[in-house]
Amino acid sequence: MADLLWNAGVAVVVAIDGPSGVGKSTVARAVAQRLDLAYLDTGSTYRAATLIALSNGIDVCDEDAILTELATHTIDYGAAGVEIDGVSVAPQVRTPEVTANVSAVSAHPRVRERIVAIQRDWVHRHGDAAVLEGRDIGTVVFPDAAVKVYLTARPEIRALRRAGDSEAADSSIDEIAENLAARDRADSTREASPLRPADDAEIIDTSDIGIEEVVSKIVDLATR
Ligand code: C5P
Repeated sequence: MADLLWNAGVAVVVAIDGPSGVGKSTVARAVAQRLDLAYLDTGSTYRAATLIALSNGIDVCDEDAILTELATHTIDYGAAGVEIDGVSVAPQVRTPEVTANVSAVSAHPRVRERIVAIQRDWVHRHGDAAVLEGRDIGTVVFPDAAVKVYLTARPEIRALRRAGDSEAADSSIDEIAENLAARDRADSTREASPLRPADDAEIIDTSDIGIEEVVSKIVDLATR
């Protein structure tokens, strides 16, 4: 890690943002492995908050009720993925029901504050050095990130990629494309930390290049 870019006095974060279906998870995991850094999928922390709300019968539009319930649980991220109260819920947070409701939960500003605090604390507990994938890592969570990348891909490519995920198993390509577009609309038009590239992010279109090429580009940015 000696040759990683350091911003004096702040956490060394490689921020990988972008909408769903652009290859963020695969790329971020591989970058973390290549750089020997911890990896955090921040989307899974919003999914965990959504699962907590849904499993307690809370209206996902009721920010106060969600916050009250969140205060009685812990959300963490371990080797097997996201955890609620110390138990891995990695498969449970990827159900169509959670996916359909996560944008509503993540649009609440005070819910975001709570979840962002969990993410920053997680990085601190992991030696202040990590690869984070999400929507607002380079803009809000770690605006001083050492490396900021924003991944994009053409809509049809993203839908095809999502079709390979277990959560999309029963959906047609058209349905997947419509769900992706709806989630992007919600995520990029919300007031609190909307999905957008940081001004200083390197934008990489992953439509026509392989994962390995994307990973190498990011590793180069981190070690140049
Ligand atoms: O990455 P994933 O698709 O699992 O993210 C699920 C949802 O969590 C996104 O659609 C978005 O609403 C929210 N999210 C967010 N900020 C992040 C990561 C995810 O608002 N940093």
